[in-house]
Amino acid sequence: MAKDVFDGLPYKLFLEEAEMPKAWYNLRADMKNKPAPLLNPATGKPATFEELASVFCDEGARQELDETTPWIAIPQPIRDFYRVYRPSPLIHAEFLEKLLGTPAKIFYKFEGSNTSGSHKLNSAAAQAYFAKQQGLKGVTTETGAGQWGTALAMACAFFGLDCQVYMVKVSYEQKPFRREVMHTYGAKVTASPSETTEVGRKILAEFPGTGGSLGCAISEAVEAARAQDGYRYVLGSVLNQVMLHQSIIGLETKSALDKYGIKPDIIIGCAGGGSNLGGLIAPFAGEKIRGEADYRLVAVEPASCPSLTRGKFAYDYCDTGKICPLAKMYTLGSGFMPAATHAGGLRYHGMSPVLSQLYHDGLMEACTVKQTEVFAAARDFARVEGILPAPESSHAIKAAIDEALKCKETGEEKVIVFGLTGTGYFDMKAYERFNKGEMEDHPLSDSDLEKSLSMLPQIG
Ligand SMILES: *Cc1c(COP(=O)(O)O)cnc(C)c1O
Repeated sequence: MAKDVFDGLPYKLFLEEAEMPKAWYNLRADMKNKPAPLLNPATGKPATFEELASVFCDEGARQELDETTPWIAIPQPIRDFYRVYRPSPLIHAEFLEKLLGTPAKIFYKFEGSNTSGSHKLNSAAAQAYFAKQQGLKGVTTETGAGQWGTALAMACAFFGLDCQVYMVKVSYEQKPFRREVMHTYGAKVTASPSETTEVGRKILAEFPGTGGSLGCAISEAVEAARAQDGYRYVLGSVLNQVMLHQSIIGLETKSALDKYGIKPDIIIGCAGGGSNLGGLIAPFAGEKIRGEADYRLVAVEPASCPSLTRGKFAYDYCDTGKICPLAKMYTLGSGFMPAATHAGGLRYHGMSPVLSQLYHDGLMEACTVKQTEVFAAARDFARVEGILPAPESSHAIKAAIDEALKCKETGEEKVIVFGLTGTGYFDMKAYERFNKGEMEDHPLSDSDLEKSLSMLPQIG
């Protein structure tokens, strides 16, 4: 890359409001090997529109099944809401580059500049709008660390919809402030497992003092939606429709880079269910698949929850209660209980079918990082770039720093772009443990992994 591109580059590669994407990009339309269809757990057959529409909103179900339309227009009311906090900035991390002494150029797309504090609002806005447009009364969902629940509460408040959130019990107790933000936006928040659903009561009877899990909260939220007229269930990651909505991250990133004549070499993101990374890489992966350009696309996972790097590519349940459709994905098994790490958003047992297929086809790489090194990277980043990152996002920071340090050894001036998905203001307990030197790593043992994988359903 010619050096002059970077001379006089502004710190923030801003886009104007008018430059915001008008359509989402559906990567599946360009994928040669399409992700495998969702299966109905009752029949074992591909889930139909009617079946999906009994759980999700109609438009969500349509988008879930659409693997041929590359561009899907963003309805005007959603674009109006996006204007409240978008376009999000693409920042040239010049202070981090200086700290590392690297010839690499580092950019990050910052999705934390909204009250929910993460990229999840991009899909929450879309799903809340589609539910309202369908004439529904409300939506139910689960939340782990609380970012998704907060985002959905904000979106439902804006579009005038009831919002019921099943929050994993440990988070409900450890993060009272997140819970209170949701209450402020009008959501009803229930600690999961709860006595309010059949599946919750069953799990409580079996595991009395359990702190809950994401898979269990999903089962409760789905049951609650089915039990109430005019309610549907919405999900903040993993699903194809969520990847679609999050493509706005990658489209804006690409527009901003193109505007300044910058071509990235490596694009990095943390991966829990895969939505921020799927959105960030979408237009770049599209170019790669169509043979127009080449990039290294990198997923970063916690060593304690390594779905891509150590999981199996197989059909599995998306929830503990086994009532959601089955997805073919890299999975650790739906019964997997991750260690109590501080990156709540990265503790899901599976991975988006889209990203799973890209990884399986060698179009995307994956790596793991350990919790303590992630927080060290977060601290270093915060001290020079100013933003206090979410623990999840800091996985991408750590991987980006490692790539930049490799460039320092080789003298290569690579362009590295990573997704900074959110802020960490509600993760101060985690930062406290790190600052006191009390934080530990929780690598996953082979025997725990084997045990969990041995319980995968036998399909195909
Ligand atoms: C939820 C979350 C993630 C992980 O979810 P993906 O679907 O993998 O993107 C990452 N960062 C933040 C801040 C989150 O809230």
